[in-house]
Amino acid sequence: MAQRTAAEQQVAELLRTAKKALGLSVSFLTRMDGTTQHLEVVDSSIPLLFREGLELRQETTFCQAIHDGLLPAVIPDVRDHPAAMALPAARFPRLRSYVSVPVTLSDGTYYGTFCAAGLTSDKGLNARDKALMEVLASAAAVIIEPGVVAGALRAEIQGRLGPVLRAGGPTVVLQPIVDLATGRRTGAEALSRFPASWGRAPDVVFAEAHSVGAGHELELLALERAADHLPAVSGYVAMNVSPQTLLTPGCADLLSRLPAARILLELSEHDQVEDYQALHAALEGPRAAGMRLAIDDVGAGFSSLRHIVLCAPDVIKLDRSIVDGLSHDPVLTTLVAALVAFAHGNGTQVVAEGVETAADVDALRTVGVDLAQGWYFGRPGPPEALEEAVPSGAVLPRPRGAAAPEPTSHPGVLAT
Ligand code: C2E
Ligand code: CA
Ligand code: CA
Repeated sequence: MAQRTAAEQQVAELLRTAKKALGLSVSFLTRMDGTTQHLEVVDSSIPLLFREGLELRQETTFCQAIHDGLLPAVIPDVRDHPAAMALPAARFPRLRSYVSVPVTLSDGTYYGTFCAAGLTSDKGLNARDKALMEVLASAAAVIIEPGVVAGALRAEIQGRLGPVLRAGGPTVVLQPIVDLATGRRTGAEALSRFPASWGRAPDVVFAEAHSVGAGHELELLALERAADHLPAVSGYVAMNVSPQTLLTPGCADLLSRLPAARILLELSEHDQVEDYQALHAALEGPRAAGMRLAIDDVGAGFSSLRHIVLCAPDVIKLDRSIVDGLSHDPVLTTLVAALVAFAHGNGTQVVAEGVETAADVDALRTVGVDLAQGWYFGRPGPPEALEEAVPSGAVLPRPRGAAAPEPTSHPGVLAT
């Protein structure tokens, strides 16, 4: 028998109570999926006759006949009911007494049944036994509901991701990254896009993918699709990866095949790193080959500056939350200036993210931020739009005209 989950153990306790209180031989929780009755948890005094995992055709079961109103919920003697005697369970395992009540989830969904049965008739079974079974069935519903909800969510996520994975991964767009001193575009960040109908930002989709065990595959495909753009664009391409995916052999293999000097790998400050040694080991080869490392979302308040200290990145990317409105916020200005001094003191470049206004561009340049990225310079778009958005040698301010704008309602999702 497979190991019971904590929820199944709790249900087993309820079943034991039911079986004991009714004085019957077996009690069980079943799930009805429309065609099949699954015996999920069984408490039986007759070993072998009933076992967990048993599947029965729903239409041939006592429970279904009771659910359809063809039989009463409490059957003291099966032989009194020709409709019951016609069912297979009346012959094998020769059920002679039966009680079955529905298990209903909080949204009204019919999950299955909570039942007890005996091999001898039991004239004493009555409406009070049914009432007890109903109380126990409600308790069982409360216990199993979180698992059912999680399972449905899992299936929904897998159903959505499947076609994207089979198609080779997400669409990847590029957003220009501009040198504040010269106004030239020096690089671009690769950002994944998923179908607009999902209504989810890419970071949410990656988290969902990890929750169903498809995160590494999705991240690696996104890196491959980002790398596809390399021949078509000049400058470096910044690519996002989680520390967990970075540690996979698949990622090591992929990075070894890419032109290291053209890649800036972005690790988010808010991703927990459990093993810095392993992270260093994974980064050592690619960094030695010329790949640069950025710590993303700095200042977003997720963790400490631990990542920066321990990773010795080439670049830090200041989160939009400490960039937006900088021009009229002296506290933010002081903070950004301090981060710039800290970074430059270690030979680290600073990129400001989410730059939307000319005033903030001026303020960033004043405090010594090196590079900037944001809607002011260009929205994430296809590689062609990137080259048009900030032509080589463009002068500030506002070289953004040609960028294909993303919808503002869901900046993180694919427009089509
Ligand atoms: P991020 O790496 O911090 O990416 C920057 C986000 O800021 C992007 O959101 C970008 O569209 C948005 N952005 C850029 N300029 C502006 C601006 O001026 N104003 C505002 N309000 N937003 C701006 P996006 O594309 O929705 O991506 C969200 C996050 O999803 C990314 O945050 C990144 O953590 C994750 N992500 C996206 N693509 C990938 C990927 O291929 N792999 C991995 N691992 N993560 C990804
Ligand atoms: Ca990023
Ligand atoms: Ca960021």
